[in-house]
Amino acid sequence: MSAALPATGLPREQVLARLAELRAGDLAARGGRTFAYVYDPARQDIDDLGHEVYASFLDVNGLDPTVFPSLLAMENDVCAIAAAHLGGSAGTVGTFTSGGTESIILAVKAARDRAGIAQPQVVLPVTAHAAFQKACQYLGVEAVLVDVDPKTFRALPAAMEEALTDRTVLLVASAASYAHGVVDPVAEIAAIGLARGIPVHVDGCIGGWLLPYFARLGVDVPVFDLSVPGVTSLSVDLHKYAYAPKGASVVLYDDAALRRKQYYACADWTGYTMVNATVQSTKSGGPLAAAWAVLHAVGDDGYLELARKTLTATRRVVDGVAQLPGLRVLGEPEMALVALASDEVDVFVVCDEMAARGWYVQPQLGYRDLPASLHLTLTASSEAVVDALLVDLADCVDAARGVSGADPGLLEAVAALDVDALPDDVLGTLLPLAGIEPGAGLPARMAGINALLEAMPPRLRERMLVEFLSLLFTPGPR
Ligand SMILES: *Cc1c(COP(=O)(O)O)cnc(C)c1O
Repeated sequence: MSAALPATGLPREQVLARLAELRAGDLAARGGRTFAYVYDPARQDIDDLGHEVYASFLDVNGLDPTVFPSLLAMENDVCAIAAAHLGGSAGTVGTFTSGGTESIILAVKAARDRAGIAQPQVVLPVTAHAAFQKACQYLGVEAVLVDVDPKTFRALPAAMEEALTDRTVLLVASAASYAHGVVDPVAEIAAIGLARGIPVHVDGCIGGWLLPYFARLGVDVPVFDLSVPGVTSLSVDLHKYAYAPKGASVVLYDDAALRRKQYYACADWTGYTMVNATVQSTKSGGPLAAAWAVLHAVGDDGYLELARKTLTATRRVVDGVAQLPGLRVLGEPEMALVALASDEVDVFVVCDEMAARGWYVQPQLGYRDLPASLHLTLTASSEAVVDALLVDLADCVDAARGVSGADPGLLEAVAALDVDALPDDVLGTLLPLAGIEPGAGLPARMAGINALLEAMPPRLRERMLVEFLSLLFTPGPR
């Protein structure tokens, strides 16, 4: 099958066979060996229900809640469930969105439009998810980044307070942070917001659903939800630890007046009068219906059990790594997210070695004075593979000893680059030097590329990645 539209339609079997072939090249979404991007409940019944309901609501359009009242009812249910889970009160309202990024864009928009001032700023720790900086760029807001504690990786409230100006429209805290799995001191940050009259958003995209269960299982989770005075909005992704199919998140607000600033209406054109709660306008009912179904089918007892397995797996990884020479866990994560660093080996080489053994662990580049690490998102499916994981991790650390992924000549050349003087097309010509060729996919060994990226200042990293993406999304012979 080529990249051209077939002149005559192909038989269904042929289409499906080609898709299966393509899918064979993907990382495994189930089975527990992929420690980022996917959330595996290790329960076939949950997956089956999600898939079935997703498909059955695919054709329903969430554009207009008055003509598809099923979606309106389900969204109100899902938001009420999320609010009850996360310390909401009678005044709490929410919106179902396509994912964490959309929830965050909407929360930043609401805060920006509530303030209604020129040159607005958002103050956030460097550990806050990149989606906030994306939201800021899209919305014409300045992101003011604040360093975190280099030992605990938690936000520093006093440093955030110092960064406030009369143009600050929003403060951000994470519960938990993606990179290190730690919960920021939300109560202290929210108290600052309350005292200054500045809204505070808690990013519970990854931790919001799971952390209340971890707390019930005895983990010392600091309070982070809407019950904290000063927290005005909170995002929680259902397509992460609520195990709903992808395209499911909720953004909650402590009151409807703030959410109103998130909405968009337009009557200044010739078509239907448009009013949207979200960035998307036409949107499939599939993700919402599937999330509704999964929440109801799993139930509170089901989530507690999934959390119990996840917590067991996390503790075994943390304890196992403590026994493993050459690797250490960064900080003390409250979440099922661990960042593994090393003072003895190149973690990017460990990453490649793990890939060669059929595991995906995610490289995290060093940033400012925070070290490079390997990220693992643990889920209910991790428990079954933890022992094998630890054995292979130890093996990979040994294999990485004395091996450097970095090409010293290239590193030197990169350090000498003048970022701003480089035109985009010249940057593109550097990609083959790093082993990246058009149409060839990624090299099996990525340590050299990760080392190069790490040697670059963030602005140059960003430009190289944009060149890379542009190259990837160029159709060519396959
Ligand atoms: C995943 C995540 C996001 C972004 O969510 P997407 O669903 O990938 O758009 C934001 N914040 C945190 C902490 C996350 O883990």
